[in-house]
Amino acid sequence: MSLEQFRIDDKVALITGGNRGIGFAIANLFAEAGAKLMLTSRSRTPQLDELLASNPERCAWVEADLTDPAAPDAIVKATTDKFGRLDILVNNAGVAANGDFHEFDDDQLAYIMDTNLIAPFRVARSAIKPMLDQGGGTIVNIGSISADVANDPQKQVAYNSSKAAVHQMTKVMAFEYGGRNIRVNALAPGYVVSDMTAGGIANAEWNKIWTENTPMGRFAQPEEMATCALFLASPASSYVTGSILTADGGYTTH
Ligand code: NDP
Repeated sequence: MSLEQFRIDDKVALITGGNRGIGFAIANLFAEAGAKLMLTSRSRTPQLDELLASNPERCAWVEADLTDPAAPDAIVKATTDKFGRLDILVNNAGVAANGDFHEFDDDQLAYIMDTNLIAPFRVARSAIKPMLDQGGGTIVNIGSISADVANDPQKQVAYNSSKAAVHQMTKVMAFEYGGRNIRVNALAPGYVVSDMTAGGIANAEWNKIWTENTPMGRFAQPEEMATCALFLASPASSYVTGSILTADGGYTTH
């Protein structure tokens, strides 16, 4: 055993939402750890362009709106067409919306569920097939502490419900594929600095509550989630499956 267990040299990783935030940090670290990358999102960012340009042979991107039912199969096909295999899936893309439960409208509900639950389900379903053919793989679903708590002060019941379902999907997939060398785990971040949380962090009242509710007294940087994702995706976690790795500065201790 050695630190080499954290390397994923020449493994092919598909990362949804790889253009910014947590997904981009994961993409960057996975590239450093030796992986070939297929990144997806609806839009591009300068940092994504830079990463793609730095190694076009080993790093590719495909446009996809994951609420399109055809997109999951298409991004998995783009990955195997480009690199010939698929070893690691990171189901990272996600969206949040706030609103009282009794006023939450159907369009918002469908948007949250389509993006946060149905899309990861479909992408994983599609990714499992090449993994089975190859004899193994690893899947990391980005869940959330919101799967287990009611957030405060914002109301976001659809988001929380979608993430709870992602955690349960993770466990059932791990059970189903444990004997076929496919490990499935979830990462449950607390509050991470990204576009998703920018509004809340800028809001003095929310910022105070979020900070006070976090024993470590600060928010995470996306890079602190990337190291957790690398652990779950790499041989370093070879006996870990069906787990939810919480990385929340202590938020869920109380
Ligand atoms: P960001 O808002 O920074 O990034 C969201 C990502 O998802 C973007 O890459 C975006 O790309 C992509 N995305 C959203 N909708 C779609 C879609 N329909 N099709 C394709 N891609 C889509 O958020 P974070 O980086 O913070 O979040 C990443 C994950 O981490 C999410 O699953 C989130 O729920 C989870 N999480 C985040 C926490 C936080 O505090 N930030 C806490 C707990 C969990 P584009 O818009 O270009 O399509």
